[in-house]
Amino acid sequence: MQDFVEAAKRAAASAADRATWEANRMRRSGSRQREVDLSQRERTALLEQIGTMVLDLEHRGQLAPDPLVALARRLRTLDAEIASGLAEVQSIRTETYTPGAGPHSGTSGGSSAKGPSAARPQPPRPAARPVTIEAEHPCPSCGKSVRDNAAFCPSCGARQPA
Ligand SMILES: [Zn+2]
Repeated sequence: MQDFVEAAKRAAASAADRATWEANRMRRSGSRQREVDLSQRERTALLEQIGTMVLDLEHRGQLAPDPLVALARRLRTLDAEIASGLAEVQSIRTETYTPGAGPHSGTSGGSSAKGPSAARPQPPRPAARPVTIEAEHPCPSCGKSVRDNAAFCPSCGARQPA
């Protein structure tokens, strides 16, 4: 009887561990996805800005490459962020639960997952994310969330102070 009680306790604890792990996984996946969404919205705003700038400069006969180079560089950075962010979201979504590994403790909004990789073989992960989580601030124009190094607001397209 004692054994049965202990086994039931262990089963309950294990179920709770798993539920915590699942909730944590969903949270990290959602958090990373939200960052990707912000990048993609900024990308759209950036492309609009580039188009407007090119047309305006061309209209004035001043189509110079320098401002365009700066925008193109930011666009490249965004593309890399989006690609690695999506890969990480995919990776988080396909994580499998390993009993006894404990709930995942990543609390900083998607910091690179160590995962329960020691105990069992895992599918190859995408290369480690080269970009770090960026802080955000409210857009001075519309108040929506903008990452600190963004050139433009992803919501309203306003140029951000340097
Ligand atoms: Zn804005």
